[in-house]
Amino acid sequence: MSYDVEKPDEQWRAELTPSEYAVLRQAATEPAFTGEYTNTKTKGVYSCRACGADLFTSETKFDSHCGWPSFFDPKDTDAVELIEDRSHGMVRTEVRCARCGSHLGHVFEGEGYGTPTDQRYCINSISLRLTEDEG
Ligand SMILES: [Zn+2]
Repeated sequence: MSYDVEKPDEQWRAELTPSEYAVLRQAATEPAFTGEYTNTKTKGVYSCRACGADLFTSETKFDSHCGWPSFFDPKDTDAVELIEDRSHGMVRTEVRCARCGSHLGHVFEGEGYGTPTDQRYCINSISLRLTEDEG
């Protein structure tokens, strides 16, 4: 798999903070209820903190009470890449940025949240950067 944005590991390490690097490049998970965007209602666009690609918008963010920012749909279907993840003894679907391959979180479905897609993109705040809508 190759991405539009590819950098050597040492460059990612230099450009990201240690906590950003751990999540984005090593697929760590930030502790629940600690991320800066968990309860954010601000209108705007969430982009990838590693490469700046637009990934999600406030339009599809909803209150999941799971401790991480949750979206029922990405901004564009091809903005994210979905990969089967069999780590930690579970079968989950990993969500990555389609432009740079950085880890964002996981997507779950059929949980009964009553959103239009019945999906929950459970995304680490630290993988995202919110740009507020103007005006
Ligand atoms: Zn990216």
